[in-house]
Amino acid sequence: MSRVPRIVILGAGYGGILTAIRLQKELNYNEADVTLVNKHDYHYITTHLHMPAAGTDNPENARVNILKLIDEFKIDFVKSTVVQIKPQERKVILEDGTLSYDYLVVGLGGEPETFGIPGLKENAFNIRSINSVRLIREHIEYQFAKFKREPHRKDYLTFIVGGAGFTGIEFVAELADRVPELCKEFDVSPELVKIYNIEAAPSALPGFDPELVQYGMDVLAKKGVEFKLGTAIKECTPEGVVIGEGELIKSATVIWTGGIRGNHMLEEAGFEAMRGRVKVDPNLRSPQFENVYILGDCSLMFNPDGRPYPPTAQIAMQQGECCAHNLVASLRGEQLKEFKFSMKGTVASLGKGEAIGLVGTKKMKGYTAYLMKKLIDLRYLYIIGGITLVLKKGKL
Ligand code: FAD
Repeated sequence: MSRVPRIVILGAGYGGILTAIRLQKELNYNEADVTLVNKHDYHYITTHLHMPAAGTDNPENARVNILKLIDEFKIDFVKSTVVQIKPQERKVILEDGTLSYDYLVVGLGGEPETFGIPGLKENAFNIRSINSVRLIREHIEYQFAKFKREPHRKDYLTFIVGGAGFTGIEFVAELADRVPELCKEFDVSPELVKIYNIEAAPSALPGFDPELVQYGMDVLAKKGVEFKLGTAIKECTPEGVVIGEGELIKSATVIWTGGIRGNHMLEEAGFEAMRGRVKVDPNLRSPQFENVYILGDCSLMFNPDGRPYPPTAQIAMQQGECCAHNLVASLRGEQLKEFKFSMKGTVASLGKGEAIGLVGTKKMKGYTAYLMKKLIDLRYLYIIGGITLVLKKGKL
């Protein structure tokens, strides 16, 4: 009797969880053994993380138990950390065991790209996971508490966000919303708090609609955010960041949002990658290993103009669906589908009641865009967990 093919999915982020959910719908009984591996027993909604990081929302609202999303009769869930991928041997090494596969799906997400800026890795925070945002939130509150004991240390109340892309902008907006509350709680005068958003490119949200960007910057400037555009961070030290001709901005809190690269394990495993991201074929497979699918922030795909698609949840989700389709097609000896990205739109939150967005060709700003952002969030909850999850975690 021939063996049931084994599919192993690494990472239960946007790409991995969508692959698993679609596979459990489409696969017939005993058509394949599917195993999903993830570091934590929960899926986190990365696109919400800027809120718990700033303390404007509870981290609980940004995570969902994986067993609530998958059917354990159809998918084995393994809570473990992947430490090595061995594509030649068709094996994955976990911290506590080894898995063999016939088909592998890599959806391990991205890692911060520091572009070799000295000290950034050691001295800056990153918004990447539930654990990282808990740390940032606690750290911010602690700075207010420390300032009360050492009022000469203005650097405790200076917050630097490196990068004015979507993550940086969404985070400074939340932080600016949180500051009045923290000032009240710790009896601190709001004028003493400084929030800098430093970006090397000449504009915030590079590549986004300039009129909307200007609107967003005006909203954030009114909330107290100071932008330093066209300004590269040269170094990050325990004292703050160095910019320009050696100017040091003293700060006890630097949060780096300036770039993402793919997971380091791919390059270590011998996959050809650019900044850790593997250029996949039109079916989402590694050109070197046809049985390995690579999704989301670990993958690299180009739009029809030859420019790389930015790593987003939107593309990771669509890739997850296409990957599940192709896995089923492979098992059944059917033709694989080419991945076609369908851009639904982009909305950036600017904090409470404010956002900017482009949906289709329609520009949105203010409260309408804010509502659109909330609808996008609800839609995602519905896709992964149906109406039950929308009612449990959804918020307008
Ligand atoms: P991820 O969603 O990052 O998931 C990776 C999974 O792998 C995680 O569950 C992780 O725990 C697991 N994992 C990692 N390493 C290991 C290991 N060694 N062993 C086991 N498991 C492991 N995109 C948008 O489209 N719209 C937005 O509004 C938006 N806002 C964002 C806001 C913030 C604050 C951030 C940080 C990102 C935002 N993004 C947004 C980008 C988006 O979140 C990512 O592109 C998306 O999460 C990538 O999905 P993924 O499936 O590749 O990986």
